[in-house]
Amino acid sequence: MSKVTLGKTGITVDKNGFGALPVQRVSQEEGVRLLRMAYDGGIRFFDTARAYTDSEQKVGEAFEGIRETLFIATKTAAKSPEEFWKDLETSLKLLRTDYIDIYQFHNPPFCPRPGDGTGLYEAMQEAKNQGKIRHIGITNHRLNVAMEAVESGLYETLQFPFCYLATDKDLQVVKACEEAGMGFIAMKALSGGLITNSAAAYAYLDQFPGVLPIWGIQKETELREFLSYMKEPPALRGELKELIERDRNELSGNFCRGCGYCMPCPVGIEINNCARMSLLLRRSPSAAQLTPEAQEKMKKIENCLHCNACASKCPYGLDTPRLLEENYKDYMEVLAGKPL
Ligand code: SF4
Ligand code: SF4
Repeated sequence: MSKVTLGKTGITVDKNGFGALPVQRVSQEEGVRLLRMAYDGGIRFFDTARAYTDSEQKVGEAFEGIRETLFIATKTAAKSPEEFWKDLETSLKLLRTDYIDIYQFHNPPFCPRPGDGTGLYEAMQEAKNQGKIRHIGITNHRLNVAMEAVESGLYETLQFPFCYLATDKDLQVVKACEEAGMGFIAMKALSGGLITNSAAAYAYLDQFPGVLPIWGIQKETELREFLSYMKEPPALRGELKELIERDRNELSGNFCRGCGYCMPCPVGIEINNCARMSLLLRRSPSAAQLTPEAQEKMKKIENCLHCNACASKCPYGLDTPRLLEENYKDYMEVLAGKPL
């Protein structure tokens, strides 16, 4: 069983973290059940966020009474010290605890620093002095902000998208974190649903000793898969290696990761799904993408204003309106009978 230490935080856990974003989509009871099952299976690192609606509430109920035996990371998207303190108090209350192991700035468009005028980093530092948080972290989807955070020396952990479709630049971030003694928490290790073989995803990340993946888990079947890898880690060879190679060839370059940072769209296009429809049609059960509701959503692409608001926010530099057009053309052809 592989262990990982998150840099200078000293937090050491099995190389399987629980991403508690998807549990907001299930009932309180089911969410608590899944979280406890994860704990019973050996998972000790749980990542949530103030922004994930009732996720913190589920984590809080699941671990009341055993708080000290696990690690909880959460996030704030506060834009001012007032919002920061409000978020922190809410998180502590919902998580039923008096400390958070890693408190992270949630994907800020810049790297908060002391003296930058926002007062955010100072609030973080004060919360740490008060013992309400143990470590200061940051999450980001933007390469430049992530690198700035690493180089600043102000953060103990970085949470960043990382999977076997990573580019050389992503790998540089992992390396820079290691050199800086920072923990690297890998989000989107299944690339927002485009990677469908969890064993391959796990085996790839297992190669990086300082990287802790947090798997977004919503179903018991998914959880059981990841728990089984703790007992018998899948090896990066043979079929899994070939599958990764195939996926890298097929998916490298300009594909939409489904992160949704380009939204909202003024005409209501659900960009995070529509801009990767061709991939979803071919890599997941296609029937769900072809329902009348899904067709309605795709049809909205016809109303695109080409305002480029989406493209200007895409952290991957995608030409989003063009991608939408291409996906729509392909979708219409599939509806007309083009084989998948
Ligand atoms: S370019 Fe089109 S898809 Fe993008 S935000 Fe504007 S209207 Fe929406
Ligand atoms: S177009 Fe870019 S920002 Fe929008 S969902 Fe896709 S990857 Fe994310």
